[in-house]
Amino acid sequence: MNPWLARNLVYRPATWLRGEPVFRLLREYEASQWWSAERIATAQEAALTRILRHAATQTAHYADAARAAGLDPARISAEDLEKLPRLSKAELVAEGERMHAPLTAWRTSWKTTGGSTGVAVRLRKDRFATAAEQAASWRSYAWYGIRPGDRQARFWGMPQTAKARLRFAGIDFVLNRDRFSAFAFRREDLRGYFERVRRTRPVWAYGYVSMLAQFAQYCLEESLPLASVGIRAVVATSEVLSAADRALVSRAFGAPVYDEYGCGEVGAVLYECERGSRHLMAENLFVELVADPTPDEPQAARLVVTDLHNRATPLLRYEIGDRVVPAAACGCGRGLPAFGAVFGRAYDFIETSDGTRYHGEFFLYVLESARERGLAIRQAQFEELAPDRLRIRVVAGPPEAPGEARKAGEWMARELERRSGGRLRMEVQEVPDLEREASGKLRLIRARQRPSA
Ligand SMILES: [Zn+2]
Repeated sequence: MNPWLARNLVYRPATWLRGEPVFRLLREYEASQWWSAERIATAQEAALTRILRHAATQTAHYADAARAAGLDPARISAEDLEKLPRLSKAELVAEGERMHAPLTAWRTSWKTTGGSTGVAVRLRKDRFATAAEQAASWRSYAWYGIRPGDRQARFWGMPQTAKARLRFAGIDFVLNRDRFSAFAFRREDLRGYFERVRRTRPVWAYGYVSMLAQFAQYCLEESLPLASVGIRAVVATSEVLSAADRALVSRAFGAPVYDEYGCGEVGAVLYECERGSRHLMAENLFVELVADPTPDEPQAARLVVTDLHNRATPLLRYEIGDRVVPAAACGCGRGLPAFGAVFGRAYDFIETSDGTRYHGEFFLYVLESARERGLAIRQAQFEELAPDRLRIRVVAGPPEAPGEARKAGEWMARELERRSGGRLRMEVQEVPDLEREASGKLRLIRARQRPSA
């Protein structure tokens, strides 16, 4: 579809019908990104007071939390935030209805997000909060030269039921995007994807890191001219974007690759700017940093997020679990707080019985080393079988000679045992494909359920 038509005759009326002021907020956010850090902080403080007061007076959970902290729900303000307890994902699930404010149903939509422990989190999002989330995303996509209505190739999960497929087909139409199922792995599927991309000529591509990388690798191996399609930018999300995958995807697509970081409960949190800093969507989210240093990253801190707009299911001091490294003010001139790396995405870690934690990067690094050594491995996944015992699932890559993938797996197993000082014991399994989550996301680490997570 023509982008102007898609933007102005489809997407814009759809947001209007739903009561989601995406375009108005987009204009505001395009201005507020250039505000000074002080002005942004002042605006956040006012928004914080509003959402705190709303949460404390309208939800059972936060009314109790305020009273337990000795605060008057009707007079609570931004400086009281740290007196309230943090909220874990487990508590959000357990508290159920007590988290919701009594809004009429038509003003909200349900949002279900996959949980780290296999427990799905369901929350309600009001129209304004949904619009704010979309506006922030479009504001950042504009950094990459993308506007609402531009044709998108989406490498994503495919809904499982006919009803859901129909609903998503509607959403895809409104947002002018063409969906490429993350569940298709066979080389003939990937060939079909390339033909479809060439025919539909998307302006940008969006998707799971693993899926983009798989498609990129296929196109390079087959010498398919993906880069000649003219894709302007690739936005990678939901999984850890390693330097090697970024380079691979960029080379195959012939376009820069940007990292989007968010979580289903609060939406997009950080976007990379043209200078490579990751900026906070500060109009929507207030973040606190809890120091959580590692030997490599003394500045590392865990993210605790407050959603400034969701009045349907207010989330105050929500523990996302992921860690960031704060950065100095960015040279791009935006006043939005800047961060360097994001790592240890919530579920991507293994904890051994002596309490040592191994984050996703630890495993990713060994996988990248294996690839750099030219070992025949396309993908790998690390599954915790029992305390201190892991299985590496390996998918053979070129050269696909019998036994080569197993050799690569065994090399990684030895490396991981060595690097963990013998804490981890590994076994290797060669598989034709890795199993994805119901959402289509591929998890590098499959940890066992942890009582605290
Ligand atoms: Zn910047």
